[in-house]
This record gives sequence, C-alpha cells and structure tokens, in this order.
Amino acid sequence: MDQKTLLQSDPEVAALVSSEESRQFEKVRLIASENYTSRAVLEATGSVFTNKYSEGYAGKRYYEGQQCVDPLEELAISRAKALFGADHANVQAYSGSPANLAVYFATLKPGDTVMGMALPSGGHLTHGWKVSITGSFFRSVQYSVDGTTGLIDYEKVRELALAERPKLLICGATAYPRILDFAAFRSIADEVGAVLLADMAHIAGLVAGGAHPSPIPHADVVTTTTHKTLRGPRGAMILCREAMAKAIDKAVFPGLQGGPHNHTTAGIAVALKEASTPDFKAYAAQVVANAKALAGHLAGHGFKLVSGGTDNHLILMDVTPRGMTGKSYAQALDRAGLECNYNTVPDDPRKPFDPSGLRLGTAAVTSRGMKETEMKFIADCFNRVAGMVEDVDGLDRLAAEVREFCAAYPAPGIISRH
Ligand SMILES: *Cc1c(COP(=O)(O)O)cnc(C)c1O
Repeated sequence: MDQKTLLQSDPEVAALVSSEESRQFEKVRLIASENYTSRAVLEATGSVFTNKYSEGYAGKRYYEGQQCVDPLEELAISRAKALFGADHANVQAYSGSPANLAVYFATLKPGDTVMGMALPSGGHLTHGWKVSITGSFFRSVQYSVDGTTGLIDYEKVRELALAERPKLLICGATAYPRILDFAAFRSIADEVGAVLLADMAHIAGLVAGGAHPSPIPHADVVTTTTHKTLRGPRGAMILCREAMAKAIDKAVFPGLQGGPHNHTTAGIAVALKEASTPDFKAYAAQVVANAKALAGHLAGHGFKLVSGGTDNHLILMDVTPRGMTGKSYAQALDRAGLECNYNTVPDDPRKPFDPSGLRLGTAAVTSRGMKETEMKFIADCFNRVAGMVEDVDGLDRLAAEVREFCAAYPAPGIISRH
C-alpha cells in the first residue's frame, strides 16, 4: 500500500506543482479564460471520485457501486438548473470543445450546414473554423465582426443565414468584449429554422452573477466551460430545453464519451454552490467594473481598444499604435510578471502567429480581491513595459515590483502563501 505524499513519491512533479503555485501567486494573471478556483473546488477535484467509473446516467449505469456518484451528479445537475434556470443539464462533457461537438452530434448529420463566428473575429475553433472537425466534417459558414466597429452586425448575420440556411446557428465568443444580443440571434434562428446554440464558455460566471444577460431564455441549447469566469474545475456543461434533453444526453454518452470524470463533477457541484452566493454576485459585478477601469486606463496610454471598450470581463486591444506587435509585447509583459495572450484584432493585417493585438481578462485578478485602484497600477505597468520591451533588466526589475504588489492579494486555492 502506497501512502506516500506527492513530495515523497515524486519530488520532480511536486517541485513543478509548487513552482506553478508560486508563479500563479506572484503574477498578475490576465488571461481571459483563466481564474483561481477555491480550495474547496480543488479539494473536490482531487478527491477519490477520480477512481470511479460510471458510464451512463444516474439510475442507469453500466457499473455497480454508484451509491455516491449518483447523488453527486444529481446534485451538480440540480444546482446547474437552479442557477441558470434551465430545464435540463448535462454535466459530463469533458470540456468545452467536446460539449460543442456533442451538440453537433445531437443536431446535425455530417455535411449539414453550421454557422458560427469566425475565429479571427473572436469565435471559437469549434464554431466551424476550418482546421477544427466542426469545419471539416460539416459545411461551415462563418460570420465576422465589422472591421471598423469591431461589433457583430446582426443584419449581416441575418442576411448570411437567409442565404445559407444553417441547421445550427452558433453565438458566443472567446474574444468579444461586448454584450451579445441573444434575442437577435433567436429571431434569426427562427427565421431560417435553425437550432440556436449559445456558447457562454467565457461569460458563464457573469451570467450566473447577473452581470451579463442570460442566453437561457433564447437558445435551444447552451454550452459552457466551468473553469473560466465561472471559477470551477476544468470541465463543461450543456444546458437545454426539455425537448432536446434526450438527444443531448445520448450524444454525450454513448455518442462521444465513455465514463464521466466524476472528480470534475464534484468540483463543478462545489463551484455551482459558490456561484449562487451574494459574494459571487459581487465578484461578477467587480469583474466587469475592473475590466471597464482597466480598459479606460489602457486607452489613456494610447492603446486602441477594439469596439472602444468593454461590457464584460474582456479587453481586446490593438498595440500597434504603440509601435509594437502582439507577440513581442506579450512576451515582454510575461517577463515583467503580467500574463496575457497575443490575439488577432478584427481585419488584422498581421498573421495569427504574431498579430496586432492582446486579449486581457479581469476574472483572475478580481478573484484575488483587486479593484479599480489596482487596475490603474496594472495599466501603468503595461505602459512601462511598452517603453522597455527589449530591456530585460528593466523587465526583471518590474517583475520584482509586481511580485511585491501581488503579495498583498490572497489567491483562492493557494494556501501555501497565506
Ligand atoms: C474556451 C472555449 C471553448 C472550449 O473550451 P475547452 O475547455 O478549452 O475545450 C469553447 N467555446 C468557447 C467560446 C470558449 O471560449
């Protein structure tokens, strides 16, 4: 019997875990899809539920011994339905991408037409982008944002839908800083007889906390990851109307997956409980307030914000007016202790591997209790890095300052530093 700790059993991996913990504690983390889960979520995700197989659904499993898994999964499902006001929830999809693929499998045949937002406009790979299975096994038609305003032109989406008649229409984004008009997508879907999928992977926490309108009343089916603004473990959920419940469940299992990751289900259940509290509502509102504050200060430093600002947790900005490209700037920022990702901007003249922009998000810093004042410090750091992209000593000195700054903000789940 092996009861060694990770450190005793595998010092190499233990050291990497410990370094990653320090790295996450010492940096200003602005990657829009990331967050800090709570200690409770980490504990549930690291539990013995990882040992259990439970293909099927509660009450209809293919293995025995489901006395604890069945109530766990039902708890996660009932919390998901209550939090988002959905008829039905499936919590088994391994992550956001397979959740979307399950919706394709439930609603389309190979070669059917799907319509989603193009990747360079802020759509996700799984919304029909050509290198994805969703863009090669299906006939994919893509809409884009307007190159000048950075906004979705709903009339253009409608015209394209009328011309192409998709069976599945997808809204939702991975890099769109404005509120999505789910009602407009609903009426377009109705006009062409399409199933409407809203992918709220990025904004689920804002929706749960009342800081962004919900797609649930409008969409036939809603997919989401659980690890972005929602602040749960890496995983996904599919929420849908009763009429689609059976098809969705069948598409996830046995259509696409085998045994669900029960340890993830445990983490999701805990995260959903946390997301239904007044504290979480305050967090969601602060995420948006922080994004607006950060956007304002960055604009003041001469960065060009796509769409002119933000309504959610996310900022997309063109850094070329400051004489830089996205990649070299993101790398310099990382060296200085500020973590984000380079990103294309609408109608980007540059290549995706070194585009014109950066994407930033405020979920993780908000989870550490940072507010508008701290956003000013962060924006000022961006300005300082812009003035010394090649000065490695200067960047290292700033990184020390950033470490000191971060030390004052407890990071959920990182108990070694409290
Ligand atoms: C992150 C994201 C996904 C995919 O999630 P993974 O868990 O990385 O597979 C799908 N859709 C959108 C809009 C996303 O932002």
